[in-house]
Amino acid sequence: MKEIEWVAVANNDDAFDGQFYYGVSTTLIFCRPSCHSKMPLRKHVSIFSTLRSAKDAGYRPCKRCRPEDLIYTHPNTQLVNKTLSIIELQLTSPLTLKDMAEQLFVSSTYLQKVFMKETKVSPSRYLTNVRMSKAKHLLQHTDLLVINIAQSVGYQNAAHFSTAFQRYTGDSPTKFRTKVQ
Ligand SMILES: [Zn+2]
Repeated sequence: MKEIEWVAVANNDDAFDGQFYYGVSTTLIFCRPSCHSKMPLRKHVSIFSTLRSAKDAGYRPCKRCRPEDLIYTHPNTQLVNKTLSIIELQLTSPLTLKDMAEQLFVSSTYLQKVFMKETKVSPSRYLTNVRMSKAKHLLQHTDLLVINIAQSVGYQNAAHFSTAFQRYTGDSPTKFRTKVQ
């Protein structure tokens, strides 16, 4: 076991979840690094890089941290959730991938990679989806001017908004509005 792995286990460090699992020889149970189960003695701990290798070695998954549960296995769920709340809270500002990455203290490349892996879309695409579905809702259900709708979904400029909207839906905002009303 590497020192860093032991430190991760000892500190229940969720940053290491998904990177490795640890088994405790006295119970034959294996856990994620973040598991808050009773702290094992170091000499009883074995490190496994995959679920498979832990199981092949005769260990059973812990019922508490559920290392096999996909939702919990991904080390990056937290990062994605934080990204989603940034998008939700800052939808009216012209948010970019770089802005989001900076707020999360990670690189744009890393955020992009993790987000894609977890959600199958890029953060920018997700942001556009949220913007456009809100814009569609406002066009359909309110009498707000297009410029106001543009601003409330993060575009400072009505023309940029219209171009993006048309690219996304195939219709200009005005045309979309006449279609749905
Ligand atoms: Zn556990």
